[in-house]
Amino acid sequence: MQEEPEKLEPEKTKPSKTIVAMDSQWFTVIQTCPQKMKMEFIDHLRPGVKAEALEKGDLVHQSLAEYYRNRQDKGTHAAGLERAIVKARIISSEMDLSLDIVEEAIFQVKECLEFHRGDGWIPLEIERPFSKVFFEDEEIKIISTGIIDLIADIPNIGPTVIDHKSSKRSTNYGILGNQFSNYAWATGVSRVIVNQIGFQKTLKPAERFKRYQMNFAAAWLKEWSEEIVYWVKLGVWYQKQDFYPHNWSSCNNFGGCIFKRICETTPDAREWKKSVEFVEGVAWDPYSK
Ligand code: SF4
Repeated sequence: MQEEPEKLEPEKTKPSKTIVAMDSQWFTVIQTCPQKMKMEFIDHLRPGVKAEALEKGDLVHQSLAEYYRNRQDKGTHAAGLERAIVKARIISSEMDLSLDIVEEAIFQVKECLEFHRGDGWIPLEIERPFSKVFFEDEEIKIISTGIIDLIADIPNIGPTVIDHKSSKRSTNYGILGNQFSNYAWATGVSRVIVNQIGFQKTLKPAERFKRYQMNFAAAWLKEWSEEIVYWVKLGVWYQKQDFYPHNWSSCNNFGGCIFKRICETTPDAREWKKSVEFVEGVAWDPYSK
């Protein structure tokens, strides 16, 4: 007698899980304005000409990284300066920066490194990328990503996350924000220092090259990370609904949103405005600056 074939139970259909990888810029843009999130991170709209400040910042970051690689290689301070300058000149050849701007950036990098030459920082990791599961439940998996300028062992303090910031304006840095919180959360290093490279012509080195230390308490980071999950879920919801409202209260913050000229026009003219003043840039990459 033939055996009855085993009856198979219909497979239980599992709801598919949403998986998102995001860095702190994503977190911030979701909190700032859903329409900005769409234009910047989904449509990849970029100004037709790359902003000078971004390219200058990139140049400063890459030359500082080269200096700290030299320290890792146990090179002298003079050799590190040389490597930093050569790096700056090479990468500037692929940028739209004028010679004056390049020379100014090199000058400030040199001054900054001279000013801090005795700091004793021992580079542990330079331009370190990270990718870590931030949150996971039945419906969503959130992966937090980023790239950290430098992790250094500082005498009498210990391992510290370092972020280089170049700017023409003096800023007071504090823990309230997503970038440094994300670094502290991802690395488990509670201390973050902003290494400021000021471009102000009238200020003395001690005022231009300040270092701001922040300490993240575990309880504070826990609250931050729990609330970020809410924001990311909201961002995913906007995307699923294909609904990106404008947050008009954010347009003038931080020197003004780069998309103001689009949002100021009437809805029927916005596509035209985008096509003449913006280009579709490369997709967001968590490991590029
Ligand atoms: S200009 Fe205002 S409304 Fe438009 S994307 Fe920027 S923040 Fe949003």
